[in-house]
Amino acid sequence: MSVLSKQYFHDEAAAFEFVESILWPTGPVCPHCGGFERINAIKPNPEKRVRFGLKHCGQCRQQFTVRMGTIFEESKLPMTKWLQAIFLMCSSKKGVSAHQLHRTLETTYKTAWFLAHRIREAMRSGELAPFGQGGGGVEVDETFIGFEPGKPVRRGYQHKLKVLTLVDRDPGQARSMVVDDLSLATIGPILAANIAKEARLLTDEAHHYITPGRGFAGHDVVRHGADEYVSREDPTVHTNTVEGFYSIFKRGMRGVYQHCSKKHLHRYAAEFDFRYSNRVALGVDDQERATRALVGVVGKRLTCRRPDGGTEAALGT
Ligand SMILES: [Zn+2]
Repeated sequence: MSVLSKQYFHDEAAAFEFVESILWPTGPVCPHCGGFERINAIKPNPEKRVRFGLKHCGQCRQQFTVRMGTIFEESKLPMTKWLQAIFLMCSSKKGVSAHQLHRTLETTYKTAWFLAHRIREAMRSGELAPFGQGGGGVEVDETFIGFEPGKPVRRGYQHKLKVLTLVDRDPGQARSMVVDDLSLATIGPILAANIAKEARLLTDEAHHYITPGRGFAGHDVVRHGADEYVSREDPTVHTNTVEGFYSIFKRGMRGVYQHCSKKHLHRYAAEFDFRYSNRVALGVDDQERATRALVGVVGKRLTCRRPDGGTEAALGT
């Protein structure tokens, strides 16, 4: 036995049962009317196409499956392949390219590309609670990646895409966002909205953190310009946690996702945030991580356009 021999990766009925057990932990809920008391499974008619997991709601007399209202809707892809794709993306530290998914899952490249973006959407946390509640340490740093469209390539970082990341040290959670610039007007409101006032902010000496830093209980600075990576006076003053996050993020973005437009970068960032915030060191194994991603499939349908300008509705296998 291996993880990959789980029945829900190979048997469509088992895949539906598994997804239902995660999304409907207390039994099926009708997505049309919210009813849950008079729901019956519809026995497949052997003479017709089998619709797995089909249910009938006695309250509103409509039919539904667990796909409805999730990223799984409007895709002809079998649930087994969805689960395989989610597992692959959740268990690979640096991510999985659409090319790899296309070869492994034996789908078209286009399908694999959409699948990956929909799964990234499922990984996107809706969590808005501020970091550093109760006075914990929050490390903040920025990194540069790829190319900002329409900016001339010069020395420095102006022409690169900019990602700002916050790491709440104590629960070990990461939250990243793509920012247009590193001005006070951009950084200040992000820090104010995402970090609790009682928190202790930890950054390098970049000037865009100085003024926003005054809004928190503490702001400790490590002087990277002076070759200081851990403060000599206080060894808890460093930004090594967020830099550790960036080392995985950048290796993944360079090695696996070689081309990434600004439009999609926030989804890739969400994918790395998700794996980091649900990592082995926090007691989350690959299967548990995949199950947590599955919980996020609800209400996250994407409406982006394909690279060739077509629409997503044409997604098949
Ligand atoms: Zn109903």
